[in-house]
Amino acid sequence: MLIDIGANLTHKSFDKDLTNVINEAEKSGVKKIIITGADRDSNKQALKICDEYPLSQLYVTAGCHPHYAKDFKSSDIKTIKDNINNPHLKAIGECGLDYFRNFSPRQKQIDCFKMFLELSCELQKPLFLHQRDSFDDFIKIIEPYLKDIPKYVVHCWTGAKDELEVLIKKDAYIGITGWVCDEKRGEHLHEQLKIIPNNRLMIETDSPYLTPKTLKNKNHRNVPANLPHIAKYIAKITNKTYDQICQQTTNTAINFFGL
Ligand SMILES: [Zn+2]
Repeated sequence: MLIDIGANLTHKSFDKDLTNVINEAEKSGVKKIIITGADRDSNKQALKICDEYPLSQLYVTAGCHPHYAKDFKSSDIKTIKDNINNPHLKAIGECGLDYFRNFSPRQKQIDCFKMFLELSCELQKPLFLHQRDSFDDFIKIIEPYLKDIPKYVVHCWTGAKDELEVLIKKDAYIGITGWVCDEKRGEHLHEQLKIIPNNRLMIETDSPYLTPKTLKNKNHRNVPANLPHIAKYIAKITNKTYDQICQQTTNTAINFFGL
């Protein structure tokens, strides 16, 4: 069994066949999926999707992606608080910083990020974090909150080794996507996978983005059913068995999100 800790199932590319996508994931061994909430609307939509599925299958994070920080309103925090007793809602996020695209001004990203860090401390919910090309600010901002945040995962990790070492020292969990299967862009992650402790690694597809480059018959759209492919690839480069990767990452996700 596998758990996809990050799938953007509220993306419009899933509008027509979401049931099928979730069923295919189930058949492939992906028994649980955490739907990423990326803004006010997708937080709401993610919880709505969950209503149609058993509690043991679909879960949600609720946050605001740094791309959308410019549209963030403090009332969005209140809406999340109003839903905090929904048993599908397992983490705060995604939130963080993205200086690669800068779709929102940096100061807006920082202000929004801090609101969610405070929310995680207040509600004692784990954090699902996004960081791209912004590591120095990212670390500086989370540092004062670390003593109060219950747990945090830096999802879709693609950074440098020295940055990963800092995160591991600071007890971060790390989410690895199909980026690792990209020979050009993901090779640096092969060595890094060896220094992530077994009980801190989780895996994710980031569907519909980041379709693994090594997938045969690859469709343009990534889906949670591709997670076993990523797990097999990680098993190969870390000299572990597929079963070991499944067991370790699943146990870690169950503990992290309290599933
Ligand atoms: Zn992200």
